[in-house]
Amino acid sequence: MEQRKGRRLVLFPMPLQGHINPMLQLAQILHSKGFSITVIHTNFNSPNASNYPHFTFHPIPDRLDQSDPAMPSNIGSLLSHLTTMCEGPFEDCLRKLMLDETDEPIGCLVSDALFHFTQGVSERLRIPRIVLRTGGACSFHVFAAFPFLKEKGYLPVQDSKLEDPIMELAPLKVKDLPVINTSDPEKLYQLATSMVNSAKNCAGLIFNTFEDLEQSSLDKLRYEFLIPIFPIGPFHKFCPPSLSSLIAHDETCISWLDRQEPGSVIYVSFGSIAAIEQPEYEEIAWGLRNSGRPFLWVIRPSSVDGVDGLNPGLEERGCIVKWAPQVEVLSHPSVGAFWTHCGWNSTLESISEGVPMICMPCFADQKVNSRFVCDVWQVGVELERSNGLERGKIQRAIRRLFDEKEGEEIRDRMLHLKEKASLCLKQGGSTFQSIGGLADHILSLES
Ligand code: UDP
Repeated sequence: MEQRKGRRLVLFPMPLQGHINPMLQLAQILHSKGFSITVIHTNFNSPNASNYPHFTFHPIPDRLDQSDPAMPSNIGSLLSHLTTMCEGPFEDCLRKLMLDETDEPIGCLVSDALFHFTQGVSERLRIPRIVLRTGGACSFHVFAAFPFLKEKGYLPVQDSKLEDPIMELAPLKVKDLPVINTSDPEKLYQLATSMVNSAKNCAGLIFNTFEDLEQSSLDKLRYEFLIPIFPIGPFHKFCPPSLSSLIAHDETCISWLDRQEPGSVIYVSFGSIAAIEQPEYEEIAWGLRNSGRPFLWVIRPSSVDGVDGLNPGLEERGCIVKWAPQVEVLSHPSVGAFWTHCGWNSTLESISEGVPMICMPCFADQKVNSRFVCDVWQVGVELERSNGLERGKIQRAIRRLFDEKEGEEIRDRMLHLKEKASLCLKQGGSTFQSIGGLADHILSLES
């Protein structure tokens, strides 16, 4: 085989839906630029290799067994398990791939930012490392400010200060700061600072975002980080996330949407990890029923604690599925609003498809994303969960979007942003150019 220096890339996704989707979309983008793609992945939540016959996949052991009662029960523990258990197997696997002389040399490693240990591995093996941060630049900037926020007393978050504004990070308030497991805030602090510090030392930072959306956060990061930063989103415009979905999409909701009035449906989904309590489930069900609007609600198995059956009569008013083809749903003309947990992929998918949001953030970067959606881009309304989710509040949020002048203005701003998301992909657009810049940068890296 002819040796093409630096054209073989090794990608290492964090095995969570919101991380696998963008990493495999990035893989498709890089493949379209002439790179060959090898994916190292955990057995836990492994991607479906048969959907990507043009890529090579290598599993590594992770000591995670979903049927094991000792399986980490919350996202904080799962992340610390993955970031500690995967280092050895990952390094062994990468070393073997480097020694394989039948294949072309590896030009670069592209790692999920949360796998911070890959910086040490790349230094030991002398392979350049580029990082994909699957969240937005706005929240990454907040993670980068963690030491400062701790020094100033904003972190750890104290209940008595939740409404305090953070002047240095306006318009954020203390209640918007990322939290995962409130009983151990130090864990998130350590994870975030390791992620940021290892990203500062890598050869480049990729974001699934676009320049016009996050220019101010990107500029701040460019000032603080001395490495090239590539905003090359929205990724899903290059390749649908259905190929990397860990749960099968229920396509029946599309024919249900076909029967609804244009712009009438509320699409409700809280992503792949967030769970709700039984009383919240009842309030959501009643809030949706009382709104009188058609709704499409994704209720993932095990996402509602303590509920065995559906609220009576719910299915007469709406469509309920276990997992939806979200991008297809958001681009459907019947959908008029997205009630979301503000995971970054969902946020960006909604913006690119021009769907105004009802924001109900749960944890991690979602609260920062929600603040930017509601107060910076002003393309959504906030629905606070912390003081108790209640049907009246839900109906009010729905009315604000669908029936009030405010909703009309939000819709106009959203269409404007959608246009920008589309323009950046065209020849000469910021994403188009940044992808070219990324490809050139990778080829210029010295192993
Ligand atoms: N998604 C999907 N079907 C659903 C809900 C979500 O395909 O019913 C996809 C969605 O398009 C997005 C990803 O799952 O790409 C969720 O990522 P996000 O960052 O929004 O949230 P997370 O799951 O990480 O909390």
